Amino acid sequence: MAAVNTSILIVEDEPSIVQLLTFTLKEGGWNALSVSSAEEAWESIQRRMPQLLLLDWMLPDQTGLRLLSRIRSDRMLQELPVIMLTAKGMEEDKIAGLDTGADDYITKPFSPRELTSRIKALLRRKSPEHAQSTLTCGPVVLDPVSCATSVNGEKIDIGHAEFKLLKFLLAHPARVFSRGQLLDKVWGTHVVIEERTVDVHVLRLRKALGEAAGLIKTVRSVGYMLSEK
Ligand code: CA
Repeated sequence: MAAVNTSILIVEDEPSIVQLLTFTLKEGGWNALSVSSAEEAWESIQRRMPQLLLLDWMLPDQTGLRLLSRIRSDRMLQELPVIMLTAKGMEEDKIAGLDTGADDYITKPFSPRELTSRIKALLRRKSPEHAQSTLTCGPVVLDPVSCATSVNGEKIDIGHAEFKLLKFLLAHPARVFSRGQLLDKVWGTHVVIEERTVDVHVLRLRKALGEAAGLIKTVRSVGYMLSEK
């Protein structure tokens, strides 16, 4: 199965740092994309929304801060997790970044390990389905890095769409989602699929889960939720 598409966009103009960031992200199990200017970053985000942005402060065309404020004033992008990369000792930069809406910052030179744990923490906080940590509910265990799912310790066969759906539901247990919300959250807002399609995938997911099928609850006239009770 293809890796689950958690993409992180790197906005940085220093090639050696881009290289280190790309390597670190891939090691962490994420897809890494990189651009070297604010304008390219904006275009890239419009084309395909990443799940997180690593944003350098000093870019050739404008400051990362300016791009950040543009991002935060766009209704579609208000929730996009952003980590700013700042130079050592620039305390005021950090404060300005956080004031403008950065979720976190990391100081250059950074340790790849620290970066990985900051990204995980931020994704866990803002979009748990992208954190790449193991998700469980009752007998179901899903490992986002190896893309393996098991029920009572037995590995199960599961399609890509069902895997994404299960991952999302495991990350948000005991919460009801409408079909439209699931389409947006699991398939992305740029994908045109009918809401009925969600039902088909839920059906397949339940079948794949076998004895654990009951974890996926239908909430009448609302949608679906994952719950042990
Ligand atoms: Ca730079």
